Formats: sequence, C-alpha cells, structure tokens
Amino acid sequence: MKSTKPHVALLASPGMGHLIPVLELGKRLVLQHEFHVTIFVVATDTATVESQLRNLPNPKLLNVVSLPPVDVSGLVDPDASIVTKIIVMMRETLPALRSAIISITRQLRPTALVVDLFGSEAMAIADEFEMLKYVFIASNAWFLSATAYFPTINKRLEEEHINEKKPLMIPGCKPVRFEDTLEAFLDPKDQVYVEYLRLGVEIPTADGILINTWEDLEPTTLAAMRDATSLGRVTKVSVYPIGPLVRQARPSPVQEDSVMGWLEKQPSESVMYVSFGSGGTLSSNQMIELAWGLELSQHRFVWVVRPPMDDDASGAFFKVDNNGSDGTPNYLPDGFLTRNSDKGLVVPMWAPQAEILSHPSIGGFLSHCGWNSTMESVVNGVPMIAWPLYAEQKMNATMLTEELGVAVRSKEFSMTPIVEREEIERMVRKIMVDKEGDGIRSRVKELKYNAHKALSIVGSSYNSLSKVAKNCEASFQSQLSKARG
Ligand code: UDP
Repeated sequence: MKSTKPHVALLASPGMGHLIPVLELGKRLVLQHEFHVTIFVVATDTATVESQLRNLPNPKLLNVVSLPPVDVSGLVDPDASIVTKIIVMMRETLPALRSAIISITRQLRPTALVVDLFGSEAMAIADEFEMLKYVFIASNAWFLSATAYFPTINKRLEEEHINEKKPLMIPGCKPVRFEDTLEAFLDPKDQVYVEYLRLGVEIPTADGILINTWEDLEPTTLAAMRDATSLGRVTKVSVYPIGPLVRQARPSPVQEDSVMGWLEKQPSESVMYVSFGSGGTLSSNQMIELAWGLELSQHRFVWVVRPPMDDDASGAFFKVDNNGSDGTPNYLPDGFLTRNSDKGLVVPMWAPQAEILSHPSIGGFLSHCGWNSTMESVVNGVPMIAWPLYAEQKMNATMLTEELGVAVRSKEFSMTPIVEREEIERMVRKIMVDKEGDGIRSRVKELKYNAHKALSIVGSSYNSLSKVAKNCEASFQSQLSKARG
C-alpha cells in the first residue's frame, strides 16, 4: 500500500486502564494528523476489549490487532503483584509482537512504535526495524519523575526512603512522602522492585515520552524535567504532555431501565458516583462502612460494586453473588437496596463511566484515583473524594487534594485501615453541598476549562502532539527517500 502519511503502531498492556488511553491516543493520531494507526492489544479478557472497541466512533478508524494470550502461570509466583504479572506477560508477548510488526510491514511499514509503561522492552523491536520509539505514560509527570529517578538514587537515599520513611526528594519536583510511595519501591527482594528499576532505566532511552497531563496542570514538574542546568534532572529525553486523553461519552439512545435512564430522572449535580476503577476492591468491613456512609449522607448515589477482598486491593474480577433478602449482594448491609431504592443505584462490576461522569446529574465522584478516572472527572468538572488503593493512586490523591484542591481525602487513611461511616458521610456532604466544599467545586470547574483549553487547536497539548507527529512525518519522509534509493 502506498501512503503519504506515516503508520504508527501502539502497544497496549493488559488492563482497561492501559487500553482505554492507548485507544484514545490512536484516535487522536488518526483524527488530528490523518496517520495510519495499528494498535496491538495484549488482552486477558477479549469481551471487555471488544466492548471498548464498540465505543470507537468508527470501527475502521484504527487497525486493532489482538496478540495471542500468553500463559504466565508457570513463570510468576501466584502471589506476585499485578504489576509483576503484567510485566512478565508483556515480555512473553514480544515474539508475537515482532511477527505482527513484520506482518503489518507488508502492508505499510510503521514509522514509530509507541509503548505504554509496561511495554518498554518492546522498544528493542523498534530499534531492530529502525522505527522511532516513544513511551506513553498514561499517568502524570510526577509519577514519571519518581519512576525515572528511582534507579539513579544511591543506596543511602534509598534506605532513608524505604527504612527511615523519609520522603523521596526528586530534583525540582515535589518530594514523594513515604506514605504515598509506589509499592514497587519498597522491597528490593521482590521481583516487582527489580522489574520497576529496569522500567525506570529503559523509559528514558525512548525518542520521547508522551504523558497524559498538560502544561498548566504540572508546570513545576515539567519544567524540572526540561531544566538542562539541573545535574540531577530525572530524564534528558523530550517529554510531551498531550493530555487529558479521555474517552468521550458515546451518544446513544437512553434505555429507561439503565443507569443512564436512572440518571436522567435525577436533579442536576445531585448524584455521587462511586467506583474503584477496573480492578479495585475493598475489604468486607470497608464495604459495609461505605454502604452506611452513603446511606447516612442521604445523598443520591450510583455505586459500581464488586465482591470484597480482605487481602488484595487490586484483585477484582469475581462473580457477583446476590443472596440478600431483597437482592442486596450479601456483602452489603441487609436491606440496603430497599432502604435506598429512591436514592441509590448499585451496579455490579462495570458501568459506562465516561457516560456517567459527563451526565449533568453527577455532582461528585468517590474515586480510587486511577489517573484515567481522575482525568475523566476533571474534564467534566466533577469534584472528588480521593480514595486511593494501589499503584500510584496515593500520589494522585495527594496531588488532587494538596496541590490542585479539587478533592477531599479522609484523614483516617493513614491512621486506621478502615474509613468509618461518619467520616464518609462528612466527605460526601462536603463534596456535594456543604459550604466548606465551595472552593473544591469551583476549582474543579476552572480546571475543566483549563483542560479543554490545552486540547484546543491552539492549546499546549494539541501543540505537543503535533510536535510528535512532525517527528514521525520527518522520519517517514526519510524512510521514503531511502526506499527510493
Ligand atoms: N471504567 C469504566 N467502568 C467501570 C470501571 C472503570 O468504564 O466500571 C473505566 C474508567 O472510565 C477508566 C478506566 O476504566 O477509563 C480505569 O482506569 P483508571 O486509570 O481510572 O484505573 P485502573 O482501572 O487502571 O486502576
């Protein structure tokens, strides 16, 4: 096939939190720059992947290739962290990715490979085929700074952080408090630590790093990353803030008995949406406290529920077991659904979050602070209750509450493993109606406009992605002239 536009290949690691923003990036490259885009998906669950593909405005927009599933059960400890499992899965997929790149090259040779955080080993394939290589961080610049900086610190600083619980001081950036640190940093004997250090070394070898943030959101961190005078600068590679990249709500007819149908009947900004992302779970006791907290607040809510797990905050994907007297899942207080039938809706396992957050009746979001959820809340001007569980979510919660002032967070998180019902009730009221929450509600609206400005045709994120596109165009032209001899 002959083309006047570059072909870019993107690689998405397993998990909706990785696939959704990679699809969005692919869409932007097609819609804004008319590139050809192939997305390689490493999927563990084809049904959810297909559901995301149905959200595309046009199924032919992107060429999506599912790489064959790999079984890593014999390669990782069954108790290994989810991050270790994903990284090993990505490693085992490399031969299939290589063959798939050879295969698409027969149609149209790709100019660049964009990998996400866990795909950095695939950059060797980009080198082999003389492609540009980019890393796309589907999180923020502060998280990138911690990841890229960690492998460079000496033993003394590492010990101060891990053992003496001192903050991790990153040149020019906000320190990471021990309480907020990445679990991957904490145990040098764990495989995740070793893998993570490798990521931190490999990511800055890319030709550029794309980040799901924007200039005005993290000006200090981005300036520190670009400060050529700083000896300890975390990365010397060009960073491109191209966000917020979020899935747009898909316009479709509203069914009366669906969650969207229910939202249609609620007053403006009256509903708290509660969700812990694609894999977050709470302990049994915490589920009960949260149920009572929502009930006591007397505010409307939509709650995406999953069966609790007492020992793994990232271990979702279990069957919902309804056996309460009124159909209330057995892990919620008995009669919860009946008592709240006029105020609340409980949705098992998965809900159309982009559509929900953009609905005018939503007034708040109790979120695990996954970065996609955070961006989806901000672009819709929805204030948050920050309830971080794992990964970089505690850093995100700190940024949202202490720096941006668009969320409230429980003080009890650091003291006790359970946030009690009265505290939850207080936070819901603060976000939804109390005078104390006025500042939070108005700041998130300002941030919404700022985010939309960054994405507009004269905005910083649009401009940033255009720079990446220009690099791809230049490389494509030189490929063409080489081919012509
Ligand atoms: N999501 C959704 N419905 C759900 C739960 C999650 O559509 O019931 C989407 C959500 O909109 C977001 C992604 O899944 O785009 C989750 O990504 P995030 O970074 O927030 O968290 P993760 O799941 O990676 O922890």
